[in-house]
Amino acid sequence: METKCISFACPICKAEYEIFLKDIPYLMLMNCPHCKKALSCFEGRVRHANEELIKDIREAKSYSDIKTILIRYDKKKKNNNNKIELIDHVISKDDIIDLKIDLNNAKTFDDVMKVIDGDAKK
Ligand SMILES: [Zn+2]
Repeated sequence: METKCISFACPICKAEYEIFLKDIPYLMLMNCPHCKKALSCFEGRVRHANEELIKDIREAKSYSDIKTILIRYDKKKKNNNNKIELIDHVISKDDIIDLKIDLNNAKTFDDVMKVIDGDAKK
């Protein structure tokens, strides 16, 4: 019997796997054998799947449904990542002008470092 091989790496623990199947399915849901996290494999792309995603996929009625669900999931994940990187205060115009004036007054490298340090502590 001819088999097809799918190889992939778990995005969480980085363990690598090869699965042999008669046909390559367009979607697989499984648990990583190593870290036991839920994974989805869709069109060769492996994602860490949370409960919400698995539930959505189970309720999907068609191929395009799944595609829409995954695009939405990726977008949401990206937004969450962006939120973590967001600074905790808004830099105002005054902050920038202050820094410019301070830097103008700085004569030596140490002075510049003091300005930057002082700004970080604000
Ligand atoms: Zn894993």
